[in-house]
Amino acid sequence: MKILIVEDERLLADALKVLFTGKGFEADTAYDGKTGEEYARSGIYDLLILDVMLPGIDGYELARRLRAAHLGTLILMLTAKSELEDRITGLDCGADYYLTKPFDTRELLACVGALLRRQGGQVDELVFGNTSLDLGTAMLVCGEKSIRLSAKEFEIMRLLLKDRGRNYSKEMILEKVWGYDSDAVENHVEVYIGFLRKKLASIGSNIRIETIRRLGYHLEVDEDD
Ligand code: CA
Repeated sequence: MKILIVEDERLLADALKVLFTGKGFEADTAYDGKTGEEYARSGIYDLLILDVMLPGIDGYELARRLRAAHLGTLILMLTAKSELEDRITGLDCGADYYLTKPFDTRELLACVGALLRRQGGQVDELVFGNTSLDLGTAMLVCGEKSIRLSAKEFEIMRLLLKDRGRNYSKEMILEKVWGYDSDAVENHVEVYIGFLRKKLASIGSNIRIETIRRLGYHLEVDEDD
């Protein structure tokens, strides 16, 4: 899945690129409307994340031009404006969805997940035992029950679910979830594993997070359930 981020706030654009790359997407950035239009017209993107207030061509105009050129790429519009009128303008221009800044990254990921799902094709949950993790919404689901994971809980759970038989040491989890530069310590991992165990139990999941001394953590399914 390829995403184009058209956003003139470079810090935000670059942060979004990192976010989506981390979720397994390919992401490109354009910092103005004209460049955004050139990239988007290539037709290689599955989704455009489009800021409204852009230098040169604004987001509304860009969306209008792409739709006029019969480009069917999904468009998620971002804007600092929250008035109803702006939303309507955005949708009239051919945007598929509208998100108001500032937004929570989980909200953004959920929107992108929902849009791509609507488009079809994207596998976006990891299943183990009686439980699944929705990668778009960070919801852990077991039967009728579900609970939302915090960003760090989600990253840890995703890591353990992706490679189920494998042991992840605290050190590896720290590195993968918090990153090299973080000053988080191994104790943080223990705390978050504790949160995850509570959440798994609260929805009646039969997944257990096993601790093996010195080797770290891995997932098992309780067959008794
Ligand atoms: Ca802007």
